[in-house]
Amino acid sequence: MSQTERNVKKQDLTLELLGFPKTIFKKIRECSKIAESAHKDISYLWIRVSKDSEKANRKKQGDGLNLNDWLNVVDEAVSAGANWLVLTIQVPLDQMEETIEICRWAQNTYNMKVGLFLCRENITTSEIKVLGSLKKELTQIFVKKKAFEKFKKLKEMGLFLGIADPQEYGDKPNCEGASKLLYVDNEGSIYTCGLVVGMKNYKLGNIYDRKFQEIVKDPSLPHTVDEKIHKVSEGCDGCPSLLMRYLKK
Ligand code: SF4
Repeated sequence: MSQTERNVKKQDLTLELLGFPKTIFKKIRECSKIAESAHKDISYLWIRVSKDSEKANRKKQGDGLNLNDWLNVVDEAVSAGANWLVLTIQVPLDQMEETIEICRWAQNTYNMKVGLFLCRENITTSEIKVLGSLKKELTQIFVKKKAFEKFKKLKEMGLFLGIADPQEYGDKPNCEGASKLLYVDNEGSIYTCGLVVGMKNYKLGNIYDRKFQEIVKDPSLPHTVDEKIHKVSEGCDGCPSLLMRYLKK
C-alpha cells in the first residue's frame, strides 16, 4: 500500500465525521491515483464565488450547484498539477456551505493549500466559526490592504493573514505569470487569469465542456496576457500567481 493510499484511509474517517456520504470513499481512492500521476503544468486553481454563482449554476444544470461537478473540477486541476485552491469570495462565508465543502475536499483528499480572498471590509463571528472547520495549517486568508486591521483577530487565532493587493494598480505585474493558473469565474467559464475576465479572446472554455488537461496542452489558446494590457488592476486582486511572489520575498 502506497503512502498516499495510507493517508486516504486515514482521511476516510475524517470525512465520515464531516458528514460525507460513504459512496464518496470510492472516489477518494481514485483521487489518490490522480494525485500520484499529476502533471506539473499549473500550480493554482483560482475560482470566483459571487452572489450570482448559485444562480448561474442553476441555469446550467437545472437543479442548483452540483457539488460533484465542482469536486471533479478540483480533481482535474490536481491532475494538471495544481497544489493550491484559491477562492475570491464575495459572499458571506456562512452562506456558502457547499463551497466550504469543496475546500475541505481539496485539503483532506489532496493536502492542497486553500487561499481565501475575502472581498469585504469586516468579518462576523459566524464567518470566523466557518473558518474553524478548515485545516489551519493548509488555510491562508487574504484581504485588501485597507481592510487588514479589521481582520487582525484572525491572526490572533493563529491563521495566516496576508494582503490580496500587494502591488500598485497600473504597474507591470510582478507575478509568476498566467500560465501557472486556471481561473474559473462564477459561471464556470475558464479564463487565462483574473486580469482578462470577460474578454472573449482570453476565454479558454467552460468547466462543463472542456477538460483542464486539454486546455493546458492546447497551444492555440492564450496562456499569457498581451504586454499592451499587462498592468495590475482590480482583476489581479487575490491572484495566487501574484501573491506567491510576494510571500516568497
Ligand atoms: S491576474 Fe494579474 S497578477 Fe495574476 S497572472 Fe494575471 S496579470 Fe499576473
